[in-house]
Amino acid sequence: MERRAYRRAVPRHPRTRMLSASCAMLALAAATPALSASDHDLASGVVLLDGATFPVIATLGDGWIATTPCRTEIFLDRGDFLDRVDVLLDPGHGGPETGSVGANGIVERDLNLGVAHLAKLALEDLGYTVALTRSRDLHMGVRQRAAIANALQPRAFVSIHHNGGAVRRSSDPGTEAFHQVDDDASRRLAGLLYEEVHAALSAWDVAWVDTVHQGTSARIRSSGLDVYGILRLTPDLNSAIVEAAYLSNPAEADLLADVEVLQDEADAIARAVHRFLGSDDPGTGFKRAFVDEAVTGTGTGWNCDDSGYGSTLSYAVGYTETEYADLSAMAARAGHTPESLQRFGVYALDFFHALQGRIELDPLPPEAIPAVDGSGLDASVTGRWLPQDQVVLMRVADAYGLSPAEAQKVGAVLMVFLVGISG
Ligand SMILES: [Zn+2]
Repeated sequence: MERRAYRRAVPRHPRTRMLSASCAMLALAAATPALSASDHDLASGVVLLDGATFPVIATLGDGWIATTPCRTEIFLDRGDFLDRVDVLLDPGHGGPETGSVGANGIVERDLNLGVAHLAKLALEDLGYTVALTRSRDLHMGVRQRAAIANALQPRAFVSIHHNGGAVRRSSDPGTEAFHQVDDDASRRLAGLLYEEVHAALSAWDVAWVDTVHQGTSARIRSSGLDVYGILRLTPDLNSAIVEAAYLSNPAEADLLADVEVLQDEADAIARAVHRFLGSDDPGTGFKRAFVDEAVTGTGTGWNCDDSGYGSTLSYAVGYTETEYADLSAMAARAGHTPESLQRFGVYALDFFHALQGRIELDPLPPEAIPAVDGSGLDASVTGRWLPQDQVVLMRVADAYGLSPAEAQKVGAVLMVFLVGISG
């Protein structure tokens, strides 16, 4: 993957007065250089890190701008990039969104994850590349799961669930599979998932329950759109949801406590995907689409907390004695520390960049880029950047052709100038 280098090729001027740099900066912000689309790579793919899957928005420098499970944009400078897979499996729910809960204490979010891991191994044994939307217990909304799928463009996308609520007795498993309305490929994938999972579970003699939705169908709004975000938000993919059995039924919960049953279910999911990708088999269980707009209240990602992702980066910036005196004086006048004034400056640069819309800014002329290290510098200020703030720093560095440290100093220069003229 090609990445842009931060550092410009031209040498930086050894000593630049802050004021002249400020003026150059403002002139740059008002300039009208050549038009072009954003020069960010239009990245497709994800970064795998710590059991989470981060869809990439753009590559920047030595890392990526990507979204967390809670849909916060952060700058990631580590992790494994993955651009495509054959199959993406989505273990439903996670974190505080437990899904259904069995009388024996089995929680759907954990059960879905266990089956997904087993199905991944089974599919890999069949020769497919496979990823999971989450490899551990994570709070993640439906929109983020769909974003991961759209970034990876799998040939099949399967969301794995276990159901709750049914009480009607049945002689066979109440397996349900859902597909995208009016989509033949999605319908065939769901039909094969239903056929395989239902057959695998039917090997056990259990007091099953079901509802009228046992089988393969599309659940739609009165507008005709799919109710399930997993399906609605991945219109270009072959997506399906499988609700293998009713965890809310104590007899089925006890069955699902048996790892042999989970292995059979996972193998069934793998077989269904294998047949979908390698045959024209039509699947079974088809029923008419039904309108049911009831909101489940799950999958919204509401109250999602992902403060633990990514790492805080620090960049020290060197200042001459005069520059540091200017910065300290203006910071004091504005009621901030030199570090926070430096950071505000980067946000101001980002604001100017946003004002430019789609106009690409030329790199700063070399004489306007202040030295950030080396001889002649007497003091330094370290900027600490949280993962979500790094997006701004890296965007500014990229847009203006600066290193992160230089972006901080140009930001500081700008703030010294702005605070100075505001009197
Ligand atoms: Zn579920």
